Amino acid sequence: MKNLFISLFSLSVVLLSCNDNKTANPDNDSNTSSDTVVAPPSAAGNPADIKTDEGPFQIEPLKYGYADLEKSIDAKTMEVHFSKHYLGYANKLNKEIAGKPQASMPIEDILKNLDMSNATLRNNGGGYYNHRLYFATMNSAGGGAPSGILADAITKEFGSFDSLKVKLSSEAEKKFGSGWAWLVVKNGKLAVGSTSNQDNPLMPGLDISGTPILGIDVWEHAYYLRYQNKRPDYIKAFFDVVDWAAVNDNYTKALGK
Ligand code: MN
Repeated sequence: MKNLFISLFSLSVVLLSCNDNKTANPDNDSNTSSDTVVAPPSAAGNPADIKTDEGPFQIEPLKYGYADLEKSIDAKTMEVHFSKHYLGYANKLNKEIAGKPQASMPIEDILKNLDMSNATLRNNGGGYYNHRLYFATMNSAGGGAPSGILADAITKEFGSFDSLKVKLSSEAEKKFGSGWAWLVVKNGKLAVGSTSNQDNPLMPGLDISGTPILGIDVWEHAYYLRYQNKRPDYIKAFFDVVDWAAVNDNYTKALGK
């Protein structure tokens, strides 16, 4: 009798907790304030399972899990961005250059010598390069301030790191529609600017040119699940996951050191 009672009690607890789970859903009616940010669904997959189709341009493995940047970017956004958008650009780029001279060129040379009227190569070559840089310059232990020779250059050329952040954030916030804000190296100097769609500063004839060392993706797919229309909040949070050691490496390479 005692065992039966315990079993019935356990069953009730299980049923009650199922019910609790239902009512805890952030989509329910108890949370309808217009200012409420709805928690996005969490990620289901593993970034290590994502493989590029055959071709010279492979996606670079993530240095972190989808959920590891949660303080700034939710896991589901990271999953879809990495496993759908980035992968899609890589696969379409490989398909586009198959059997062409670009198949044996570095991506940087493809972009520098791009025929801007070739929309397929422009969108997918740019998309591949931009996302490779984006995912490689974030980390769960990121944030803080730059160090090394990059920190010295930022202070010298922008006055302070805060001043650079204000300028770069402004470029990212004011970009109309989809695009990117950039920190680049041109002729040994740092510069900030932005491009539309999947263009980047390696491509010819744009308002900003140089070698990108950090890019902020301001396409809605990069932030909309958590931030909706609040792009400035995403940009502010992005700085909390920037891997400045990786950006410093990019800076050193861009200087040819
Ligand atoms: Mn993107």
